[in-house]
Amino acid sequence: ATFAEAGVCAELVDACTRLNFTKPTPIQAEALPLALAGRDVIGLAQTGSGKTAAFTLPILQALLDAGPAAGTPYAVVMAPTRELAVQIAHVFVALGGDLGVRVVTLTGGEDMMEQAVALAKRPHVVVATPGRLVDHLEHTKGFSMRSVRFLVLDEADRLLNMDFEAEIDAVLSVLPRERRTFLFSATMTSQVRKLQRACLVKPAKVSV
Ligand code: AMP
Repeated sequence: ATFAEAGVCAELVDACTRLNFTKPTPIQAEALPLALAGRDVIGLAQTGSGKTAAFTLPILQALLDAGPAAGTPYAVVMAPTRELAVQIAHVFVALGGDLGVRVVTLTGGEDMMEQAVALAKRPHVVVATPGRLVDHLEHTKGFSMRSVRFLVLDEADRLLNMDFEAEIDAVLSVLPRERRTFLFSATMTSQVRKLQRACLVKPAKVSV
């Protein structure tokens, strides 16, 4: 299969080609058609599987389709660690940067004011660790989740193991119900299942 056959638009196929993504990895081949068709998706996959592009491409494609009508932020990604958040943001920029997509990373241990300045520039995509995302929701004027249409919970098992449940609940409580959600996890635990029930609608499950 090719990215085009999975439903990826020409501009994003070109972006993949520039990154030497010549064909979809197994998780991408399974998840992309479902995600691009409008489904919520649960992906059971490890780092190294190509899971990041499996959720990045559908979000970027929806953003391109929405054009100037897309509000900001349009997508919010929660990741358990600063390192993972930075990696995810890099993939969004690598695939969408040339198409005008603006991305901000919000992680702990960095300057709140600098992050607030970056948020004021109205990024389309916010990639964050949960604690710092909640800090900005509480303290940064003008920052809200009202326009969010995509939520990603990446490495959900680790998010829960690291006790981010309260922060995740706080974010869920201010997200629009009318949105799409992608949840990725290396393992399916009872906690992950509970989170899945709380925030996904009729999800398609994919695993590699
Ligand atoms: P991830 O599991 O998302 O962290 O991705 C693991 C690595 O695979 C990253 O270095 C990606 O750049 C790379 N990658 C992702 N998708 C593809 C693809 N379709 N073809 C080749 N490399 C890929």
